[in-house]
Amino acid sequence: MNIFAATRFMVSAAIVIAASACGGDDPLPPGPARLDLAPATEQRLFGVGATVQLTATPKDESGNPVSANVTWTSDNTAVATVNSSGLVTATGLGTARVRASVGSLFQEVTIVVSEPRYNVNATSACSSPDLRQFKVETESAHLRIVSGLDNPPGGFTTQDYQAFAATFESLVWPVLTENFGMPTDIDKNGKVIAFFTRAVNELTPAKSQSVVGGFFFGRDLFPRAGSPRLQACAGSNEAEMFYMLVPDPTGVVNENVRTVESVRRLTIGVIGHEFQHLINSSRRLYINQSAMWPETSYMEEGLSHIAEELLFYEASGGLLPRQNIDIDMLRQSQQRLDAFNSYMSSNSGRFSSYLRSTHDNAPYQRDDDLQTRGAIWSFLRYLADRGTPGTPFAEPVCGEPVVLTVGGRCRIDGAAGAQFNVAAGSSLGEFTIVAFSADAAVSTNASADGSLAVTGPPSPSLGVGGASPTTFASASIGPAVAGLTLDYAFHSRLRMIERRDLPSHVSAARAAYARTASLGPRTYSAQATAPLLAVSVVEPVWSQLVNSNDTGIVNLRGRFGADITGAARDWATAHYVDDIGLSGLPAQYRHPSWNFRSVLPALSSNGGSPSGPGTYPLKVNQLTTSHSVSMVDGGAAYYRLGVAPTTTSTVRFTVNGAVPPANLKLTVVRTK
Ligand SMILES: [Zn+2]
Repeated sequence: MNIFAATRFMVSAAIVIAASACGGDDPLPPGPARLDLAPATEQRLFGVGATVQLTATPKDESGNPVSANVTWTSDNTAVATVNSSGLVTATGLGTARVRASVGSLFQEVTIVVSEPRYNVNATSACSSPDLRQFKVETESAHLRIVSGLDNPPGGFTTQDYQAFAATFESLVWPVLTENFGMPTDIDKNGKVIAFFTRAVNELTPAKSQSVVGGFFFGRDLFPRAGSPRLQACAGSNEAEMFYMLVPDPTGVVNENVRTVESVRRLTIGVIGHEFQHLINSSRRLYINQSAMWPETSYMEEGLSHIAEELLFYEASGGLLPRQNIDIDMLRQSQQRLDAFNSYMSSNSGRFSSYLRSTHDNAPYQRDDDLQTRGAIWSFLRYLADRGTPGTPFAEPVCGEPVVLTVGGRCRIDGAAGAQFNVAAGSSLGEFTIVAFSADAAVSTNASADGSLAVTGPPSPSLGVGGASPTTFASASIGPAVAGLTLDYAFHSRLRMIERRDLPSHVSAARAAYARTASLGPRTYSAQATAPLLAVSVVEPVWSQLVNSNDTGIVNLRGRFGADITGAARDWATAHYVDDIGLSGLPAQYRHPSWNFRSVLPALSSNGGSPSGPGTYPLKVNQLTTSHSVSMVDGGAAYYRLGVAPTTTSTVRFTVNGAVPPANLKLTVVRTK
């Protein structure tokens, strides 16, 4: 049935009654001419005892409120009762109509009381609902935490849930809404719902190396009911909500033990991540009605990982973007270390995985794997830090032979890369050649005559600097949750299900939304003019990307200029040349926010430990031997070339055994 049509019918019925009560052409007597009821749409209550407050406002012909006695009645007190001030209380399962009356004027709203159950099916959006019972654990201004009645024993306490809600209000809500925008409020309850359910645990098979930490599912934003002509999504929970992992200390679910502490450490970061998906998805669906829905996977995930980074800045108590944060800055306080370990170590770990395999990964790849996520997070951060949209990505074309001073750079594109000479000059020369594949995949081979072995950049590692072990004895830079690696293959499948099951419902959902939008506000109230944030890391670029009508590369072009491929080439070069002590390096080759040469070697996954740094994970090839690699669109490969004093080295590139096409782009940098 169409709940919206039913409400509209009642409005016209009330007007007819009012007119007939007066009769003829006589002027209306003083007193109410109409009655407004809020909320006016069907209300869903979960379980006996649940309540909703209704408000009736009698108004005169001009729409001004007038005082009049409102009487409240329910047509089915076995389902819902209503008291003299409009407070509705569920008394049983079923449907009731609650009426507000003033004289012969009345308005009604349908109350549906159902068992407190949510559909947790994560393999089908709209069909085969898997309903799980829940109870409310706690509520704060913008969050309702509910937990499954079937959750494993030994889980979170009420105090744990209250602590999550408090952190949501002080950290997640302001950081996310100020940077990305307000979510919708389709269920008009003023709350985002976090459902802590073993259904999330069930998504991780026994003995898996990774774990599903939670998810957002776009189907919950779609209407469950529709007129016969309009498709509905029966499996929707019709709520702004996401699903969260629960502790399972004895391994009840698939024998996977999840300690309270390990899940606690994961929770706020996952909430922040999923909340970005909720904001992005709901705004694209309902606020920006011309927007494409949904956004591409890599942009959705990249923005959610940016959300985690923004939580880090706020939680660090003073660190900001574009401060070139190094390991010493992180180790200056326990607060900073905790913030890094909670919100940034996963981004750093994924970026490390990307650096180990830059040839077969790219930020705008469709596969949504660990490396793509590391790359798109870093690329979005790079683009935001780089600033002015449309900044040209100019560099001189290399001469023949290539002659560069230390720090000097030049470019060779396409066929010119088939063979070129690199001259050392009077002293030993060390060069890095970054090969980048623009707009197509290539299989390339690189070789050089007379190349000497060279090791690393001029400053191989800035490492832990002067930090003494005592400064970080109590907390290390490492995986956010020891032993729990998040499973992104699941998220990738979920996004595919959204794309498969939901786009055909978008126009119907928007039409239903538009019909109800006139009945009251459908987003949360506007934020205060002054930022709510203590540190105020608010970057307008994120909201612009969320509130764009376009997706993917087109969305990036709209904000950062047409040459996204050129930006990716510069970004790839920055992975090698930033923070190795080259003077005069232009901004396009920098990562202004992070000193990765310092931070990444300290990660335990890169061999870092309290006693010393590990390695910078970028994979670099020596050109003392020939090297073959297949690069994806947006992939990059790194070569080191040593040239003896007063000599020249001849470098040759082929693509598929032939002269390189235009999409092979080389950047040559002299590092010593
Ligand atoms: Zn995600």
